[in-house]
Amino acid sequence: MTNDIDNPSSPSSRRDFLKTSAMAGIAASFGVAPRVVGASSLQAEPAAFAGPIAISSRNGQQSVLKAMELIQSGADALDAVVAGVNLVEEDPEDTSVGYGGLPNALGVVQLDSAVMHGLTCRAGSVGCIEGIMYPSKVAKLVLERTDHVNLVGQGAQDFAVMHGFPVQNLLTEKARLEWVKWRENMSTQDDYLPKHQPGSTGIGDLAAPIKRHWGTIHCSAIDLAGNISCVTTTSGMAFKVPGRIGDSPVIGAGLYCDNTVGAAGSTGRGEANLENLASFLIVERMRAGDSPQAACLYACQRIADHTKLARLLDANGRPDFNVQFYALNIKGEVGGAEIWGGNGTFAAATPAGGRLVDLAYLYKAK
Ligand code: ASP
Repeated sequence: MTNDIDNPSSPSSRRDFLKTSAMAGIAASFGVAPRVVGASSLQAEPAAFAGPIAISSRNGQQSVLKAMELIQSGADALDAVVAGVNLVEEDPEDTSVGYGGLPNALGVVQLDSAVMHGLTCRAGSVGCIEGIMYPSKVAKLVLERTDHVNLVGQGAQDFAVMHGFPVQNLLTEKARLEWVKWRENMSTQDDYLPKHQPGSTGIGDLAAPIKRHWGTIHCSAIDLAGNISCVTTTSGMAFKVPGRIGDSPVIGAGLYCDNTVGAAGSTGRGEANLENLASFLIVERMRAGDSPQAACLYACQRIADHTKLARLLDANGRPDFNVQFYALNIKGEVGGAEIWGGNGTFAAATPAGGRLVDLAYLYKAK
């Protein structure tokens, strides 16, 4: 499939990345509170099904197009979203996901991923998996080939190897150098020193703090049969404490879907999301009648209300971090929101093409 996407990480990326006019219906549906969608049932084809659609965090512009291409050829939504995010997992330039992801505090790349399948209400996930380039594929295998939901650490890697995945070095030179920079500058109380002249003073004191790097990809889709699935995959918070898992591999936090309602997923500070299970919250708000965007904003507000620790608050008592949410419903409406925003977007695609859609926000970014 050809497309004219600019560098997805560039703020100057074009909003419309493929045949934008056909997506006008998506944008126009923002702010319209849908009726309660569907009854509780495992069957697809709720009355409001409006056709296939895929959404993702902004770094998934290629992913939603890939997912839509597969869906149009008859793929199940789960296969489509996993194939979509595989493109980002194998991309060494995206330092927040898979190969090339920034490592933990010890310089080891540890990946988290989860999938959920709306038709069967089943899920699979891997946490802290090392050496496997496609954790989302392993999460899908956990769903398909075990009677469990979560596998972590060495057990997750052993399971991947059992299914034929090679163990690879995922630490790229670019990510290693970022880690060394962090290691040499973040502490004034250890024995690591940044490059300096013999007479330098203030070694290890930062003139400007290094910005903590976040990033992840979430992708949700509805296929031709009206079935919904989703996936989230990440290298997690850069330089995290070894063994830490974030929200991405936790069902209900990093992602959630219900075939009769819709799907939701997140990126950003996982700890805040874990303490609020926001993806589950968003799907339940949509079930009760919220639009996807209103439900995402509701989750942002919930996190703001629940953030009490002073070190996580700014001078005005607002969260001093960001979280993004993305959601779609079975009617084909999409929406997203973040705590701090103004310029944020996410990707969406239908059979007619792809588009970047604005994220709503609680507070205008400083
Ligand atoms: N949510 C991810 C985590 O906490 C990181 C991110 O999205 O930036 O691991």
